[in-house]
Amino acid sequence: MADLMIECEGLTKRFGNFTAVDHVSFSVARGSIFGFLGPNGSGKSTVIRMLCGILEATEGTARVGGHDVGRESEAIKEIIGYMSQKFSLYDELTVNENLIFSGKLYSLREKELKQRRDELIAITHIEPYLDRRAGLLSGGWRQRLAMACALMHKPTVLFLDEPTAGIDPVARRELWDLLFEFAGQGMTLFVTTHYMDEAERCSHVGYIYMAKLIVCGEPDDLKQMPEVSPPGTRRLDVTCDHLTIALRSMRELGGVQSATVFGQSMHLLVDESVRRAEIDAKLHEVGIASAEIHEIGPSLEDVFVSLTAKHAGENSRERAA
Ligand code: ADP
Ligand code: MG
Repeated sequence: MADLMIECEGLTKRFGNFTAVDHVSFSVARGSIFGFLGPNGSGKSTVIRMLCGILEATEGTARVGGHDVGRESEAIKEIIGYMSQKFSLYDELTVNENLIFSGKLYSLREKELKQRRDELIAITHIEPYLDRRAGLLSGGWRQRLAMACALMHKPTVLFLDEPTAGIDPVARRELWDLLFEFAGQGMTLFVTTHYMDEAERCSHVGYIYMAKLIVCGEPDDLKQMPEVSPPGTRRLDVTCDHLTIALRSMRELGGVQSATVFGQSMHLLVDESVRRAEIDAKLHEVGIASAEIHEIGPSLEDVFVSLTAKHAGENSRERAA
């Protein structure tokens, strides 16, 4: 049994009559990168705030590093780092001053503090900007600094709330390289994101929708779920001109269960009996001369789309009953 660094059971938060987090249960093993996804307002930040002991749960329990988040918040504070969604740096202080200040918040002593600061400078490569005011850094460097500040006291669990929102693709990748390095050293990471490519890189993912966790597990296992990959079907990627017309025609073709645009191509979920020649012929009918077709596996986006649709369907049936 892997050693669990985050465990929650029936975790619930209500603000008045409004339920922001509804009986959420999951666990995260040491050294894993848990990606937490869901649309805006679905409850991601509220879950993080409860796990960090900042916000009291209305119902349910949560433990981080074995400590109860409600009753042992001091112990939790020692072992976690938290990088909030809204920027958590002092813009008027320099990079160096932000690092020192963060260390002092955790009562690190002079020698330890300097040593840790130097380690984090080396890890994040932020040396050239040490004397720059945090408010003048680019998005990518601000996030690295925020991460370094959150790590000054050597936490074993790091919570990052949308760390890559609004930063460029290169900075995004570099930040992820750092996250992998930390996970490799045994740190446990809990990351919220909107980016599917980031979700694909996580060892485990959870998807929260309207306050409920609708799916949780390893990306490859989720892709094999029957709701996502129904037996007797396959997924095709079709690249051709006039995608909008093509999409409409594919939705009319028998045996096509779904058709969605994906960037420059479309993804079809079709019955195994549907042959490529039929697809070609249908596209010809609407004036599309040629198409490139190949079989693909489901993506995490396919997983979330399928399960959200299923969940929404169940909810409306419950209301109707
Ligand atoms: P996410 O991070 O997934 O975008 P949040 O956890 O921030 O979502 O918010 C979930 C829901 O809870 C939202 O509808 C939000 O408006 C509501 N909410 C969050 N914090 C509070 C609060 N302190 N008081 C009332 N409602 C809140
Ligand atoms: Mg949020």
